[in-house]
Amino acid sequence: MEKRISLVREDITKMSCDAIVNAANKTLLGGGGVDGAIHRVGGKAILKECMEIGGCEAGEAVITGGGKLQASYVIHTVGPIWRGGKNKESELLKNCYLNSLKLAVKNGVKTLAFSNISTGVYGFPKRKAAHIAISTVRDFLSTDNSIEKIIFVCFDEENYQIYKEILK
Ligand code: ADP
Repeated sequence: MEKRISLVREDITKMSCDAIVNAANKTLLGGGGVDGAIHRVGGKAILKECMEIGGCEAGEAVITGGGKLQASYVIHTVGPIWRGGKNKESELLKNCYLNSLKLAVKNGVKTLAFSNISTGVYGFPKRKAAHIAISTVRDFLSTDNSIEKIIFVCFDEENYQIYKEILK
């Protein structure tokens, strides 16, 4: 495994790193899954900043403070909704990881935790999503020296096993 990549099975709201990446929706107003958990634990300050930002397109990313979370920042990225695979889903998911990484670097983030974007309610096939996530992060790290640690945070056992297998 690349020295700067690690894998955990955890609730991402418990991570004490510089930033965590939320699988948000276009409104940025909160939802279910990981998004709901982050807003619940992080408190109203995050939602207020999200409202000021006003929204985000699929594949893009925005940053807010971490509110009551241990993490200093939350990077909110909007994953694609899986519609069979011929609607730029893979390209958009790759952009989620890439734009989150760029935003992290821009804000001096050294340690960054990713959730498994789009693999919940948005229905992206988990194995395919994991390959995109891992290859995008690996490629990025090969040209970046500022990020010290990327942590893939899997919440469900299926994603955890898939990541473990691909990363070994
Ligand atoms: P999306 O709408 O992008 O699919 P979801 O939140 O429905 O977003 O699911 C994305 C992933 O987040 C899923 O793999 C799910 O297991 C995971 N997840 C749900 N709750 C948490 C949490 N508290 N911490 C980390 N990951 C979580």
